[in-house]
Amino acid sequence: MGHYKSNLRDIEFNLFEVLGRDKLYGTGPFAEMDTETAKSILEELTRLSENELAESFTDADRTPPVFDPETNTAPVPASFKKSYQAFMDSEYWRLGLPEEIGGTTAPRSLIWAYAELVLGANPAVWMYSSGPAFAGILFEEGNDVQKHIAKIAVDKQWGSTMVLTEPDAGSDVGAGRTKAVQQEDGSWHIEGVKRFITSGEHDMSENILHYVLARPEGAGPGTK
Ligand SMILES: Cc1cc2nc3c(=O)[nH]c(=O)nc-3n(C[C@H](O)[C@H](O)[C@H](O)COP(=O)(O)OP(=O)(O)OC[C@H]3O[C@@H](n4cnc5c(N)ncnc54)[C@H](O)[C@@H]3O)c2cc1C
Repeated sequence: MGHYKSNLRDIEFNLFEVLGRDKLYGTGPFAEMDTETAKSILEELTRLSENELAESFTDADRTPPVFDPETNTAPVPASFKKSYQAFMDSEYWRLGLPEEIGGTTAPRSLIWAYAELVLGANPAVWMYSSGPAFAGILFEEGNDVQKHIAKIAVDKQWGSTMVLTEPDAGSDVGAGRTKAVQQEDGSWHIEGVKRFITSGEHDMSENILHYVLARPEGAGPGTK
């Protein structure tokens, strides 16, 4: 048992009594996800969050990852790996992913409701496990090759990052100067300096996909 005390009653109160999601769950695209099923998922995630996920919170805080230039990675403590693996093994991260890459259709309200449990118990578990959700974006936005990569990323549970911030472009993300130059084979070469990248290195997956914000050569300034 970890430090975390969830408040499932409050989550259900918001979902069903305030927002009336029970009228939506079990209908249309969510036919398979009725209120009873959603409640049982939240109950199981409550148990997981209060126990396996929360258990490593203190140890991981006291033993933070440190970049090791020898192995070129930032190993995380064994206790945290156990929590991370428990979440990945639970497979609840499949909720809301496109079915074509191994997901289960689910309402966003249910996903954000369960996010509160994971983030409350151990926020780093949520951040490190972004791989499948980011692969979902790659699948929806990408070309055929990228869609294929997205499927592999989910199958192999690769990690991922979002690479936006630069030394002179934080809050003002549109000031970013990183440049993308398209090559004859259709790929892009990227040039620039980024910093503050969450889960940029770790030893919990065999690969990490870095989604990099860059300005195509010739595009104007700002965020458009
Ligand atoms: C733990 C952590 C994880 C992060 N993970 C990522 C990540 O995964 N990927 C990524 O791309 N980035 C990441 N970041 C970077 C984060 O997005 C930036 O730190 C954030 O955008 C702020 O930018 P900055 O640090 O350059 O500060 P600045 O933008 O330079 O801000 C400095 C100060 O000025 C204030 N300020 C800025 N603009 C204004 C304004 N217009 N008016 C008034 N006050 C203003 C700010 O409030 C702040 O107090 C992470 C940062 C942290 C701390």
